[in-house]
Amino acid sequence: MLKGKVAVVTGSTSGIGLGIARALAAQGADIMINGFGEPAAIENLRQEIATTHGVGVAFSGADLSKPADATELIEHATRELGRVDVLVNNAGVQYVSPVHEFPVERWHAVIAINLTAVFLTTRAALPQMFERDWGRIINIASVHGLVASVDKSAYVASKHGVVGLTKTVALETATTGITCNAICPGWVLTPLVQKQIDALAAREKLDPEEAKVKLLGEKQPSLEFTTPEQLGALAVFLCSDAAAQLNGVPLPVDGGWTAR
Ligand code: NAD
Repeated sequence: MLKGKVAVVTGSTSGIGLGIARALAAQGADIMINGFGEPAAIENLRQEIATTHGVGVAFSGADLSKPADATELIEHATRELGRVDVLVNNAGVQYVSPVHEFPVERWHAVIAINLTAVFLTTRAALPQMFERDWGRIINIASVHGLVASVDKSAYVASKHGVVGLTKTVALETATTGITCNAICPGWVLTPLVQKQIDALAAREKLDPEEAKVKLLGEKQPSLEFTTPEQLGALAVFLCSDAAAQLNGVPLPVDGGWTAR
C-alpha cells in the first residue's frame, strides 16, 4: 500500500515508534528511523527492517530537544530518501513530580521534545506534502492528551497541546489530500512505562508482576497493555484511502481508560 512513499518516524529506536516503523515498512514504505541507542544496535535494527521488508531504511540521530535538529530531520530524510509523505511524531519523554516541586528545566525538556518538536517537524514537512497534495501526519499523543493524572503536569500539558496542534493542522489541510490525526494510547509496556512500574514496585514493595497488575488496575479497565503492533496497525489504517476523511481526531487505544 505504501510502496514509493517515505515515512519519518521519530523516536523509533524503541517501543511504540519501532512498532510503527516496522508496520509501515511492511506496507512497502521507505523509512527514516530516529532516536537514541547504541550505534551498533541501531545499525542492526536498520539493516533488519530493510532486509525483512525490502525497503530503504535510513537513520538520523537528531535530538528533538534541539529545534535545529527537528527541522534538519525532515531535510535529512528528504535528501537521503527523496521525500517525506508520512510523518509520525512519536518521540516523547516523561517526568513525574508534583507541580510545586517540578524542576523547571524538566518542564522545558518535556515540552521541547513532546510538543515543540511536533510543531517543528510538521512545519518542515508540510510544504512538500502540499506540493504533492498528499500526506499523513500521525501524532502519538496519549490518553494524557484527553485526561490528566497526578504528578504528570508537563506530560499532560504537552499531550493536550499535541491534540490541539493536531486539530489545527487538520483544519489548515482540510481541503487537501493531507490528514493529521493523533493516536492516544493507554498503557503500553515499553521502556518508558517499565520505569514507572519499577518505581511503583520500589515505592510499594511489590514484586514486578504485582506492580504491573496494580498499574493497569488503576487506569486501564481491560487490564491488558496496548501493544506497539496494535498501534502500528492503526497507523497503517490512517495512511490508507479508507481514512482519507478521518481528520483532526484523537483516537484513544486505551482498553477503556477514557470511557469512565
Ligand atoms: P520509549 O522510551 O520506549 O521510546 C521513546 C523513543 O523516543 C526512543 O526511541 C528514544 O530514543 C526516543 N527519544 C527520546 N528522547 C528523544 C530526543 N530528544 N530526540 C529524539 N528521540 C528521542 O517510549 P514509548 O513508550 O515507546 O513512547 C513513545 C511515545 O508514545 C511517546 O510520545 C509517549 O509519550 C507515547 N505514549 C506512550 C505510552 C506508553 O504507555 N508507553 C502511552 C501513551 C503515549
